[in-house]
Amino acid sequence: MSQFPARAVVDLAAIRGNVSALAAHAPTAQVMAVVKADAYGHGLVPSAHAALAGGASWLGAAQVTEALELRRAGVAAPRILTWLYAPGAPLRDAIEADIDLTVSAAWALQEVAAAARAVGQTARVQLKVDTGLSRNGLTPADLDLLLPAAQALEAEGVIDVVGLWSHLAIADEPTHPTVTLQAKVFAEALAVVEGAGVRLEVRHLANSAATLTSPGTHYDLVRPGIAVYGLSPVPQLGGPEQFGLVPAMTVEAELANVKHVQAGSGVSYAHLYVTERDTVLGLVPLGYADGVPRHASGTQDRPGGPVRVGGRTVGVAGRVCMDQVVLDLGPGATEEAGDTVELFGTGADGGPTAQDWALAAGTISYEIVTRLGARVPRVYVDSEEGA
Ligand SMILES: *Cc1c(COP(=O)(O)O)cnc(C)c1O
Repeated sequence: MSQFPARAVVDLAAIRGNVSALAAHAPTAQVMAVVKADAYGHGLVPSAHAALAGGASWLGAAQVTEALELRRAGVAAPRILTWLYAPGAPLRDAIEADIDLTVSAAWALQEVAAAARAVGQTARVQLKVDTGLSRNGLTPADLDLLLPAAQALEAEGVIDVVGLWSHLAIADEPTHPTVTLQAKVFAEALAVVEGAGVRLEVRHLANSAATLTSPGTHYDLVRPGIAVYGLSPVPQLGGPEQFGLVPAMTVEAELANVKHVQAGSGVSYAHLYVTERDTVLGLVPLGYADGVPRHASGTQDRPGGPVRVGGRTVGVAGRVCMDQVVLDLGPGATEEAGDTVELFGTGADGGPTAQDWALAAGTISYEIVTRLGARVPRVYVDSEEGA
């Protein structure tokens, strides 16, 4: 394995299985596995291959450079969509690499058209409509204004408008009125675009939460991200197991030191934690530089982020440091330096999950996995190999 005393073990079989579970939740739609942000920290290329093997026919990447990286690595996904770029983006490369470009503004339509002319190839374009998130996308009014220009470019063969899509603001609360409201605005935008004679290949609206809980939003394609990696987008409604998902990433480390200290010992910076009795401390060589959230530090009254040690779970004692955290293993602890501990994993054996760390840090599981540092090696396994 690696020389580094910690690692993120990614089970490619879990990613495959999660995509096929998501496909079963959305039987009328194709699946676009969203692999932005290094596949939510899991590693872009291996995760993309696993998602395709699990039945995804599309890959989604926020940045153009991420989409290009997929093609450069030889990922032959039938289709790749990208959606977040600023003026000056490498759109010519994207068109040559057969990547669908989202247009969310008039300047973007002009840049895509110029890039398509420059490479002498028709650009595949998907229009994004802002149905109520007020982030990226054309407002319905701007869509009306842009549509004639897009159709003129289509008639010239410069672009091909192949999709219309939008993104939900509060899909993780399936009964929230914005879900049906945004779906209604989306349906109206579709009627405008299709009514103008544009022939769309795909219409799409659903992220992970909507894929699992709002079938009315599935249309032709669903765009799950977090659920591909086996984490629940709706932890308040159910854990991954409830949706047939398995967390793909396990973060583990070897204890770098174990020692006896006396009662009253202040532990880690600022002494937020002071031992109440003679005890054994264990040192875990992962810190906030590796993505362990400093907000999950432990105090006397509130245990920090959970770590599985042997068959039990202990909270981080004291401040999370840049490179390390300390555990109070208890007076009778028999652990030794070199023993493996687990920060989070599948949760199957009652061990901690990325969602538990999210709770400890006051955030969401997305942030726990995507912020895992570059220093932590990703190690790929396949739990079904040879099975
Ligand atoms: C990130 C993202 C997704 C996936 O969201 P999840 O909540 O992780 O499923 C889907 N669509 C767009 C536009 C996104 O930016």
